[in-house]
Amino acid sequence: MIYLDHNATSPPRPGVADAVRAALAGTMGNPASVHGPGRAARQKLDEARRQVAGLMDVHESRIVFTSGGTESNHLALFGMAMANDLRGTIVVSGVEHPSVLLTCTRLAELGMTIHTLPVDGTGRVDPQTVRDAIDTRTLLVSVMAANNETGVLQPIREIGAICREKEIPLHVDATQWAGKLPMDEEQLPADLLTLSGHKFGGPKGAGALIVASGISLIAQLTGGGQERGRRSGTENLPGIAGFGVAASEVSKQLPTETTAITRLREHLEHRLLEVIPDARIFGQEAPRLPNTTAVGIRGVDGETLVMALDLAGCAISSGSACASGKTTPSHVLLAMGEESAYIQGAVRVSLGWNTDIHAVDSFITAIKRSVDRLRQGSMLS
Ligand code: PMP
Repeated sequence: MIYLDHNATSPPRPGVADAVRAALAGTMGNPASVHGPGRAARQKLDEARRQVAGLMDVHESRIVFTSGGTESNHLALFGMAMANDLRGTIVVSGVEHPSVLLTCTRLAELGMTIHTLPVDGTGRVDPQTVRDAIDTRTLLVSVMAANNETGVLQPIREIGAICREKEIPLHVDATQWAGKLPMDEEQLPADLLTLSGHKFGGPKGAGALIVASGISLIAQLTGGGQERGRRSGTENLPGIAGFGVAASEVSKQLPTETTAITRLREHLEHRLLEVIPDARIFGQEAPRLPNTTAVGIRGVDGETLVMALDLAGCAISSGSACASGKTTPSHVLLAMGEESAYIQGAVRVSLGWNTDIHAVDSFITAIKRSVDRLRQGSMLS
């Protein structure tokens, strides 16, 4: 199987499965217990916390381990909203992941105001719209670093500068950025930053919210007071240990990987437009993640194309995997003002740490064949 769906989840990196196994089999204690086995578990947890903090070079006390991107986004938004007695306005972009947008819908039902920012034709937020949206009632701005469907990067530095100037906290969902581009506070000047380990080769179900000092959040899970009272519940130690190893491998590999993946993606897009010249690459003019190509192909249905490619041995996604099963068109492509014929035929190809040129070339052959057949009305590839 040729796996080109790293934005949905990226296969475990070398070392991750071993770390999970070692934490599972070799750590019997609860990290909260004071006895020897408990202290051994605590040491593993502390090590993973250092590794995750190292990804962005922040102090370990800022890391709150969660079950992943969805929970981190929820904690950031609900935690801030509840700390403000569910009053005020949250400013979000219209292309956020559903875990942000639907959490905002729920906050609106509870009486908060949600100000949704538009994006331009390339999928980017104009920082000026953030400035214009902020007023005395603004509690939080939440804009993602990189879009999961298109890979388009948001101007977080500029948005961060505006938020700093206006003294409004900024939440950045960096779920797709992490592991693909360098993470530092200059690039991502966030007060709250969401990470999910499985998007860069860690286990599924482990992530973090990085919280700046001075930000007070109301915990959403209450109980034993773990994670400095910000997220109760015995930590998922095997998952977190794997997340830590993935973070440390990414920190080492990133420069080489980014260069290699950028080249592969350039090759992929060049070849794709050669074999399907009327394909449209969404957000092509915008700065994008090095690994993502979202493409619209007229005259085919994206879901059907994904199935045809699956039969041909290639795993890709029609838009966002988190939204799969959904028959409504992509809210991201709609917000970009894309034509419905392209939206209907939208698929997402996302490369990763273990992708090579042979995989890309085989994929090009397969997609060309599948599109030709689907356009002729046949599903078999
Ligand atoms: N935010 C973004 C941008 C995502 O792409 C995803 C996963 N598709 C999430 C949040 C949710 O992450 P998780 O699967 O870890 O809950």
